[in-house]
Amino acid sequence: MTKARTADIVIFGAGIAGLWTHACLRNLGYDSLLLESRNIGGGQTIASQGIIHSGLKFAFAGKISTLAKSISAMPERWREALAGQGGVDLSQAKIAAPSQLLLIPPGLLGGISKTVAKKALGKNVRELNSADWPSEIKTSGFGGSVVFMDELVLDIPSVIRALAEPNESSIRSISENAARAPLAFLNESGIAAKKILFTAAGSNAEIATQEKHDQGLETQNRPLLMAMMKPAPFPLYAHFLGKTKKPVATVTTHTDQDGTLVWYIGGLVAERAMDSPAQDSINAAKKAFAAYLPSINISNAQWAVLPISRAEGKSKTGGWMPDTPTLHRAGNVLYGWPTKLTFAPMLADSVLIELSQSNISPSGTTSDWSFLPAAAYAQTPWDTARWIP
Ligand SMILES: Cc1cc2nc3c(=O)[nH]c(=O)nc-3n(C[C@H](O)[C@H](O)[C@H](O)COP(=O)(O)OP(=O)(O)OC[C@H]3O[C@@H](n4cnc5c(N)ncnc54)[C@H](O)[C@@H]3O)c2cc1C
Repeated sequence: MTKARTADIVIFGAGIAGLWTHACLRNLGYDSLLLESRNIGGGQTIASQGIIHSGLKFAFAGKISTLAKSISAMPERWREALAGQGGVDLSQAKIAAPSQLLLIPPGLLGGISKTVAKKALGKNVRELNSADWPSEIKTSGFGGSVVFMDELVLDIPSVIRALAEPNESSIRSISENAARAPLAFLNESGIAAKKILFTAAGSNAEIATQEKHDQGLETQNRPLLMAMMKPAPFPLYAHFLGKTKKPVATVTTHTDQDGTLVWYIGGLVAERAMDSPAQDSINAAKKAFAAYLPSINISNAQWAVLPISRAEGKSKTGGWMPDTPTLHRAGNVLYGWPTKLTFAPMLADSVLIELSQSNISPSGTTSDWSFLPAAAYAQTPWDTARWIP
């Protein structure tokens, strides 16, 4: 018979939400078990662009008072963690880029956008004189304004490892079959939990419905078809702004397992149904590069796409994402969506408050979870993609 164990908390889902919360709770002395049904790093987390938003992007869309404000406190939390001084230790994680650029085409709207951004969050944004543009932008054929934005981009595989590696003994694998009936799995495995947290992204809603925990719960999925291009000619971390509220393209740069640079392209380029033809995103990306960086030769590049959905609590403002993370409560079971990778610290804060309000304090013990198999790490989208010329 399986020996009974009681965890302070069991978390299902090892994306950024589960990993950050688990690491934070373990550091505080909670006996926390994190169970993953696929790979550590999750579905959306490993697929994210790694931008730690300060709110600027949202200020452009006129969301200054709500989303932009709530997210603007987050970069400091991440910087503390990167310095090894926060609730979690990210000192082993890598910064992909310390800042990003906004490429704003000439014309009235570009000017208005800049003013909005400066008013909203003036400190971390400044227009660059053309003499100070990065050399690759100087020769790219770009003809508008270049704005420097002091906003971090993180290397997400290293963030995942920094959070998971010190806690591997309590991050365990469950089969996808067992994960379909997670509470029954705990019972059958002799695992009791004072609190249960689901950070299982798209599966959260399904599980909540199945467990009849869905009263008052509203969620939404927003699909993307991300574009990827390699070899990228130089590292680029930039938002191509246009006449639309969302950037025409948001480009980040990553390195595949062969050391080749990959441009990963979101923004409007990717805002389409996941089952759209791959060429739709690829053509939109090509069009964006031709318009913004016309002198860059990408004619020999290979392309790929990633269909993926963002799962989150339902936005009250329609079409957009919610202004904060979402935490849904049903007895001693919680369901959490960070909404953005950037918000992971805020979601973990909410879980800590829940534990404290339920009088669950750190037991200071560490159960032996080695009877459950270890979980493997997720591979990046560029290493698993099907590339086409
Ligand atoms: C293309 C893309 C780019 C993005 N870029 C950014 C960005 O630059 N900056 C930013 O702040 N945000 C970004 N986001 C948003 C961000 O990635 C997500 O908000 C965040 O990663 C969600 O984390 P999560 O832990 O909730 O979900 P996930 O990372 O999806 O993790 C959920 C995990 O739960 C597991 N799971 C599912 N069901 C079960 C179960 N029953 N039992 C156990 N495990 C289970 C899954 O296998 C998965 O590992 C981006 C999102 C996408 C899709």
